Amino acid sequence: MAYQHAFVDGSSCDLPAGKVVCVGRNYAEHAKELNNPIPSEPILFIKPSTSLVDMTQSFSLPVGHGCIHFETELALLIGKPLTRADEQAAAEAIVGVGLALDMTLRDLQSALKEKGQPWEKAKAFDGSCPVSAFVKPDKVGALTELPLRLTVNGEIRQDGSSSQMLNPIVQLISHISQWFTLQPGDIVLTGTPAGVGEAKSGDELLVELPGHLAVNTRII
Ligand code: ZN
Repeated sequence: MAYQHAFVDGSSCDLPAGKVVCVGRNYAEHAKELNNPIPSEPILFIKPSTSLVDMTQSFSLPVGHGCIHFETELALLIGKPLTRADEQAAAEAIVGVGLALDMTLRDLQSALKEKGQPWEKAKAFDGSCPVSAFVKPDKVGALTELPLRLTVNGEIRQDGSSSQMLNPIVQLISHISQWFTLQPGDIVLTGTPAGVGEAKSGDELLVELPGHLAVNTRII
């Protein structure tokens, strides 16, 4: 079934599934765990709409391309066009707060990085962006203090907060819009906290925005 944005409260969402603009190394501890320097400005990349799948359904992963990592990230659904937007306009354009997994072919990404080539094949493949339903922003409290957590087979693997972001959500969206127009239905991913690891077939994942959203899913 084709992916369609949804709200947790069941209200309808007729925004089209658009592109997903992502940021690399937005949490210092995650940059360190992969031995990457902390960037002086956001490292941006894009996943196409064909990368989106519904996180509440079991999802499959590509085989034969080496190790695949999960990266748990806060996801913002954009509801208004943003071109070179200031922070206030960026804040007003957010219509949903959700969770996403930035699935990454880590071995392939390392090989591409070494050759100085773009990451797309490692990050933007079909199904590389499982995403949850979205909570209305007025229900989640301050965007600068949102917790996020990933539990794999009963063990907490990632446990972070948007307060640890190098580029906070609203500033990040404003920055992205200086380069790429964001359209209604686009999603912004905000980087992953420390604790990324290998995703394996059969893994049971619990992805949480504690207090607001909990998604149980399975890799097949
Ligand atoms: Zn990521």
